[in-house]
Amino acid sequence: MNIYRLAVLNDNYVFVLHDPATDTAAVVDPAISEPVLAKLDQLNAELVAIFNTHHHGDHVGGNSALIKQFPKAIVYGGEKDRDRIPHQQFFLRGGDRVSFGGREAEVFFVPGHTYAHIAYYFAPTGDQSDGQGGELFCGDTLFAGGCGRLFEGTPAQMMASLDQLRQLPDDTRVWCAHEYTVSNLKFALTVDQDNPDLQERMVTAQAMRQRGEATVPTTIGLEKRTNPFMRWDTAAVQRSAGIDIPDRVFARIRGQKDNF
Ligand code: ZN
Ligand code: FE
Repeated sequence: MNIYRLAVLNDNYVFVLHDPATDTAAVVDPAISEPVLAKLDQLNAELVAIFNTHHHGDHVGGNSALIKQFPKAIVYGGEKDRDRIPHQQFFLRGGDRVSFGGREAEVFFVPGHTYAHIAYYFAPTGDQSDGQGGELFCGDTLFAGGCGRLFEGTPAQMMASLDQLRQLPDDTRVWCAHEYTVSNLKFALTVDQDNPDLQERMVTAQAMRQRGEATVPTTIGLEKRTNPFMRWDTAAVQRSAGIDIPDRVFARIRGQKDNF
């Protein structure tokens, strides 16, 4: 499975998954359809699946036009997004499995940004010769250096969602749906300023952006070391929040970020 990252709108990423063995493709969170159709054309691939993480327009805006071109493609989304995702046919719960390109993805229920949000995790294949690593498509839940805003969820829900993602192997690649990294890291440095990994990450991320490069994908390991929203149980983040009760720490820093 090859993954192509398309930068669309202001700062969205859409991911096209391609299985060269069968000339099929899937797309994660098509904000718009045109660049996806152009990529499918270039790959000469048939779209067989749309994997939506949540109902927001910048994640499902391309569904209808894609289904028009590929009426047989199946649209997946969260069970609780029933009626909010155009053309949704599969209503997924945490623990469900979906497949594409000879691989299986596990569905994680990750409410917080919205009450219905899900993520898709393709576990590593573990093959000796052409083994492929773990890939997480997490929409607006976990971002590089940050996390999604809480539009329909509580801090405790988002923290539990991120805690599930924290359990994944460190080398899991994290394909989040926006390029927010530098501004997230600016905030992160206000809560975890003495973290040398975070300081170094900011330098690297700024240089990448100056070269016009994407900072996505990130990895679970890097997020655990540098993202304050994955570090509610560290002494440094607790000290800066002024509390040592993990849920309250998380709520406090999420609130600070909203007003940053
Ligand atoms: Zn969203
Ligand atoms: Fe979004």
